[in-house]
Amino acid sequence: MPWYKKLHWQIIIGLILGLVFGVVSAVMGWGAFTTAWIAPFGTIFINLLKLIAVPLILASLITGVTSLSDLKKLSRIGGKTIAIYMGTTVIALVIGLTIVNVMQPGKTVPPEMREKLEATYSGDASARTLLADEAKQRGPLQPIVDMVPENIVGAAGSNRNMLQVVFFAIFAGIGLLLIPRENAEPIISFFSSLNDLVIKLVEIIMITAPVGVFALLADTISSIAGDNIAQVLELLAALGYYMIAVILGLFLHMLFTYSGMIKLFTPRTLGQFYRAIGPAQLVAFSTSSSGATLPVTMERCEKELGVSEEVSSFVLPLGATINMDGTGLYQAVAAVFIAQTLGMGLDLAAQLTIVFTAVLASIGTAAVPSAGIVMLVIILEAVGVPSAGIALILGVDRILDMLRTVTNVTGDAAVATVVAASENQLGPIQSAA
Ligand code: ASP
Repeated sequence: MPWYKKLHWQIIIGLILGLVFGVVSAVMGWGAFTTAWIAPFGTIFINLLKLIAVPLILASLITGVTSLSDLKKLSRIGGKTIAIYMGTTVIALVIGLTIVNVMQPGKTVPPEMREKLEATYSGDASARTLLADEAKQRGPLQPIVDMVPENIVGAAGSNRNMLQVVFFAIFAGIGLLLIPRENAEPIISFFSSLNDLVIKLVEIIMITAPVGVFALLADTISSIAGDNIAQVLELLAALGYYMIAVILGLFLHMLFTYSGMIKLFTPRTLGQFYRAIGPAQLVAFSTSSSGATLPVTMERCEKELGVSEEVSSFVLPLGATINMDGTGLYQAVAAVFIAQTLGMGLDLAAQLTIVFTAVLASIGTAAVPSAGIVMLVIILEAVGVPSAGIALILGVDRILDMLRTVTNVTGDAAVATVVAASENQLGPIQSAA
C-alpha cells in the first residue's frame, strides 16, 4: 500500500493542513468563515465519536467482565490494572514536580505580564473556580458517592458521567457472572453484538478522520489566535517556559515510562506500539478528549497490537475514565508554576499533598476537553495557593490539553498491552496499517 493511503499519514496530513489553515485564517482575519464553514465538520466528527463512547463502554465492559468467567480472574486483572494505572500516575507526577522545581518557570514571568494575565483571564478563572467550589464543598467521600448513579439513563445521558457508566457496567457484569450461564447468555450476547457493532462504526468514522482532524485543528488554531496573532505570540513568549516544562514532562513520561514498559514487559517493539496507536494519538490531539478517543484506542489496540478483546474491553474504558497521567503531570507543573509566579514557595509536604490530591483528581477528571483545569483548582486549594491563579495559565491551556490528552491515551494503550502480555493474551497483529 502506498504511504499516503495509510490512515495515520492521512490524519497527519489533515492535521498539518488544519494547522496551516488555522494560522492563515488568523492572519487573514477569516475567523467568521472558519467558524461557519470549517468548524462544523470537526463538530460532526467529534460528535460521531462521542455518540458511540457510552454504548461502547457499556457493551465492552459488560462483555469484558463476563468473559473473565469468574470473579477471581476479574479481581486479579482488575487489581493489576488499577495498581499499574496508579503507579504510572505517581511516576508522572514525580517527573512533573522534578522538572518544575529544576526549571523554575514561574520565576521567568515578568510582574507586568502577570498582572495583565490575571486581568485578562480573571472572569474565566472565576467561572471555573465556582465549578470547582461546588465540587469541593461536598465532603471528602463525595467522589465515591458520585461514582454510583441513581439512574442509569441519567448517567448514560452525559459524557461527563462516564465513571458512573463504568461503575454500572462492572456491577452488571459481576451480576451476570453470578447468575446461571443460560440465564445470562441472552444479555451477554446482546452486548457482545453491540460491541461488534460499535467497533465497526469506529472503522467507518475513522475513514472521515483526516477531514475531521483538519477541521478541528483549523478551528482551534483560528479561535485561539482570535484573528490577532500578535497577541498569541506575546502569550506564548510569556508562558513559553512553563509550556516547555509541561511538554518536556509529557515527553519524558512517554519516552521512559511507557516505552520502558512496552520494551520490558511485552514482546512488541516500540515501532509496532507507536505505529499502532498513532491514529489514536492524533485523534486525542485534535479532540482533547480521551473519552471521545476511546473507540479508536480500542480498535487500534485490538487490531494493531493484538490485545485480546477480553483485556482491552476491560482495561481501556476503565483507563479512559480513571487513568490520566498527562493530566496529573500537567496539574503538578501548573500548581507549582502558579505558586512560583505568585512568589509562594511550596515545601516538600505541600508537594507531597500535590501528588496525593492529583492522583485522586486525575481519577475524578472527566475525559473531556479542559476538565483538568477545573480539578487543578482543587489541588491549588489543597496547598493553599489562591485558585484565581489559574488565570495565569488559561490562555495556553487548550494547547496543553491537546498534548496531555495524547499522553493519557498512550498510557491507557501501554497498560492494556502490558496487562495483556502478563495474562498471555497478546495475540497476533490482525492487520498491518
Ligand atoms: N482533556 C483531557 C482528557 O480527556 C482531560 C484534561 O486533562 O482536561 O483526557
